[in-house]
Amino acid sequence: MQYAESVVDLIGGTPLVRLSRVTADLGPDAPLVLAKVEYMNPGGSVKDRIAVRMVDAAEASGELKPGGTIVEPTSGNTGIGLALVAQQRGYRCIFVCPDKVSQDKVNTLRAYGAEVVVCPTAVDPSDPRSYYSVSDRLARETPGGWKPDQYANPANPRSHYETTGPEIWEQTEGRVTCFVTGVGTGGTISGIGRYLKEVSDGRVRVVGVDPEGSVYSGGTGRPYLVEGVGEDFWPDAYDRSIADDIVAVTDADSFRMTRRLAREEGLLVGGSCGMAVVGALRAAEQLGPDDVVVVLLPDGGRGYLNKIFNDRWMADYGFLDVASGETVGELLE
Ligand code: PMP
Repeated sequence: MQYAESVVDLIGGTPLVRLSRVTADLGPDAPLVLAKVEYMNPGGSVKDRIAVRMVDAAEASGELKPGGTIVEPTSGNTGIGLALVAQQRGYRCIFVCPDKVSQDKVNTLRAYGAEVVVCPTAVDPSDPRSYYSVSDRLARETPGGWKPDQYANPANPRSHYETTGPEIWEQTEGRVTCFVTGVGTGGTISGIGRYLKEVSDGRVRVVGVDPEGSVYSGGTGRPYLVEGVGEDFWPDAYDRSIADDIVAVTDADSFRMTRRLAREEGLLVGGSCGMAVVGALRAAEQLGPDDVVVVLLPDGGRGYLNKIFNDRWMADYGFLDVASGETVGELLE
């Protein structure tokens, strides 16, 4: 019989799929562009990978003891990963989210049995009401509390160095020449990027993609709507020596590409995936037919149906060109 002992054992080993429609404008000499589909993880995102590795490391070091409580500020995906690992291993979970996170994501965390505290986005990280401050306080005040801190935990980039990076290298039979990913905590780009550079003797070009306004691409941290990527500070999980280039993408371009991925490639994915693909296409423009570009798609689109895939929401923000017939139908009703 073929079965996993628990969902935790199903984490990783995600497939690569060729993007053939959204790449059409690149012309005949375009590189192969492959998407690493991380929504195939059991919790629906790339963050399952870091969740299990951070918990493993904390159990091994004694920071997380039997019956302990996991407290983490998370935009949702890391919480889902931690929640499913925690329930399988008997830990309590409290998650602290900024208020821009979709209600669907909050409801999902609660469905896994986690507790969720929602905090204002529009305050400084050092403000006592910020989601960073609130999670610090809860981790301190809860008996047996442990904060994984994905922004500083070395198991975050290490999980990608040890799993996602080698998967990409093996799946492309060492032919990947360019790796493109969105940057949030920086764990994905730092771990995968370092692995691919080492294994290829520096041949693989690494491109980070950032929402316009975020610090990685030189912004001041001004707000943007795409979730899970971009920062207003420099996390320890981000290794500044890895990216060869950082591409800034607007919310409008990110969300339009996200909708194209669903309609044209059959990939119902989140907004940071559209952002990463816009970055991948810009990188691909500089490359040739012998190149192989791998772009990582962090999560699925079900959590964004009331935003990115909602015509009214898109039109209200000016992201939709209604006159060109770019709607999915509801504005015409
Ligand atoms: N996209 C989404 C939807 C995410 O949740 C995250 C994680 N914050 C990322 C992209 C970025 O990954 P990383 O934190 O490894 O930079």
